[in-house]
Amino acid sequence: MSKEILKMENISKAFSGVQALNHVNFSCEKGEVHVLAGENGAGKSTILKILAGLYRADAGEIFWQGKRVTIKNPQQSQKLGIAMVFQELTLVAQMTVEENVYLNAEPRDKFGLVDRKALRRNVLAAMDQYGIHVDPAMLVGELSVAQQQMTEILKILVREPELIILDEPTSALAKQEVERLYAIIRNLTAMGKTIIFISHRMEEIFAIGDRVTVLKDGNYVGTRLIREMDEDALIRMMIGRSLEGTFPQKQAPVCGETVFEAKHLASPDGKLKDISFTVKKGEILGVAGLQGHGQSELLNALSALYPLSSGEVFLKGRKLKARNAGQAIKNGVALVPADRKNQGLLLELSIRHNTAISSLGKRMNGGVFIDSRKEKAFVKDTIDKLSIKVGNMEHPVHSLSGGNQQKVVLGKELAIDPQVILFDEPTRGIDVEAKREFYVIMQRLAAEGVAVIMNSSDLMEVIGMSDRVLVMYEGGVSGILEKEDINEETIMRYAMGVGQKQAQAGDGQ
Ligand code: ADP
Ligand code: MG
Repeated sequence: MSKEILKMENISKAFSGVQALNHVNFSCEKGEVHVLAGENGAGKSTILKILAGLYRADAGEIFWQGKRVTIKNPQQSQKLGIAMVFQELTLVAQMTVEENVYLNAEPRDKFGLVDRKALRRNVLAAMDQYGIHVDPAMLVGELSVAQQQMTEILKILVREPELIILDEPTSALAKQEVERLYAIIRNLTAMGKTIIFISHRMEEIFAIGDRVTVLKDGNYVGTRLIREMDEDALIRMMIGRSLEGTFPQKQAPVCGETVFEAKHLASPDGKLKDISFTVKKGEILGVAGLQGHGQSELLNALSALYPLSSGEVFLKGRKLKARNAGQAIKNGVALVPADRKNQGLLLELSIRHNTAISSLGKRMNGGVFIDSRKEKAFVKDTIDKLSIKVGNMEHPVHSLSGGNQQKVVLGKELAIDPQVILFDEPTRGIDVEAKREFYVIMQRLAAEGVAVIMNSSDLMEVIGMSDRVLVMYEGGVSGILEKEDINEETIMRYAMGVGQKQAQAGDGQ
């Protein structure tokens, strides 16, 4: 009791039908580094956002330094001494490091003006105290990502919080910078500060954590001392979800023939590193990994929406060249994007317009005018084939449900007769019935000989749908699993870098 600084009890939170947290318990002792772990969607970010005042819990109690508190907004959380370092930085690029660090807390002279000398003195003293060194006069916009992150952390520390929440802070850092961050964290805990750390990296959890709490599908699994655990035991705590019977049985077998091949793909920013794989005829290749290890970047790169600095792509042995998305489409590479609202659809425009837009060229009359009769017939045909539930094809696409919107995106992509189709989070935010229809369509495409690549953060979906699984870690391929090796435990081991060398972490920063 004496050492317990935070206790969250029976915390529940639902988002429009999804139970993100279900009677979860979580507590921290003063001066510890407490790791929060769990698969994608376990509820880690949600519980920490409740603590930071960004969400309100539906039920449950929070005790801070032994007293029951309510946290209604971020200001209340900060006042208690709780600070969260966000993955998206909150700095102002046009201001200097020192101006950012003391933003709205500048030392003032007797006339009420900012005391620049005191500002410099204070910032240098804080840098010494916390072991964070960045040139205070530099504009933030000119700093590296790692330096910006250090500035963000310093900005939080000068407000002297008792508890600091770090949500995957190392994803943008190179190896030496990760070491620096560890040193800063150790310094903070030596000063009696408490750290909550979300991490997806096995090596990191064991390097810096004192205790770990595991969540699974919004449920509390348990809390353990890290020195009494090993990697296997931690993975076992995270897995064990059940595969629901929503995945249709596959009709056509995978053949030996390779349809699509990628060789040594790499991006200039280091987010993709030396990625090679093949897709065989009839096959669905699943792409798995914990959030932010390059999965979406890979799919976008294959449709020329993300830059590559090296690598080659082959379709049926022919080398493809695409400098932009239009060329990728001409090559027969279609993408059903994760963000259908921004990337996939023109929400204000009609269902007809959205469905027909990718394949306009095919229905031109004499090369100039759209043949509207042909277009309508084509849209009607797509609506029937994908059983899109539509009253009137002239209505705006935003009037459809999420699942039907997603089918319009798919219909638009299918209109180009793709030879390769990339599904990025195809079933996020759509209902169970629409999900099942999507699965059937994916299998049909694979059976027709289209190379199907599906990235999903839902591990059960990857397991249920894939013939092989490519697992990503830190921008590279940590494993390619054959059908018989596809299970939660094996995917999670590769996804957390178990048995991987950290040497290449954060290259190309
Ligand atoms: P984690 O951080 O462990 O990956 P999250 O806390 O982000 O998990 O999400 C837990 C569950 O709640 C997921 O199913 C996610 O889709 C859902 N969820 C989280 N935030 C929202 C939101 N703002 N609206 C709707 N659903 C959400
Ligand atoms: Mg999260």
